[in-house]
Amino acid sequence: MAVKITDICISCGACIDECPVSAIVDDGDNPTGADTYYVYADKCVECVGYNDSPACAQACPTEGCIVWDAVSAGQPSRDDIGADMRKGNTPCVD
Ligand code: SF4
Ligand code: SF4
Repeated sequence: MAVKITDICISCGACIDECPVSAIVDDGDNPTGADTYYVYADKCVECVGYNDSPACAQACPTEGCIVWDAVSAGQPSRDDIGADMRKGNTPCVD
């Protein structure tokens, strides 16, 4: 589960300090070479356990820059975790 920064990003920097797990890097460190900020999918936890909703998306001034990446097979999405919690199960978040 992860969010993704699209090419709408204007590299304003509003999101990077909001991330509780330091999953975001700036355009200078984007491993794809794109001129945008970048979210490491293996670090992003969609703010589960930290915020009610993804803090980066809350901070971002653009419309639709931060989107939900495709959920990998077998990987729970934030919605799945919410459903599990509603069923009384505990999400597996370290
Ligand atoms: S959703 Fe939360 S954990 Fe993921 S990149 Fe945004 S601020 Fe970081
Ligand atoms: S807040 Fe939005 S526009 Fe600004 S750097 Fe982050 S993703 Fe890009």
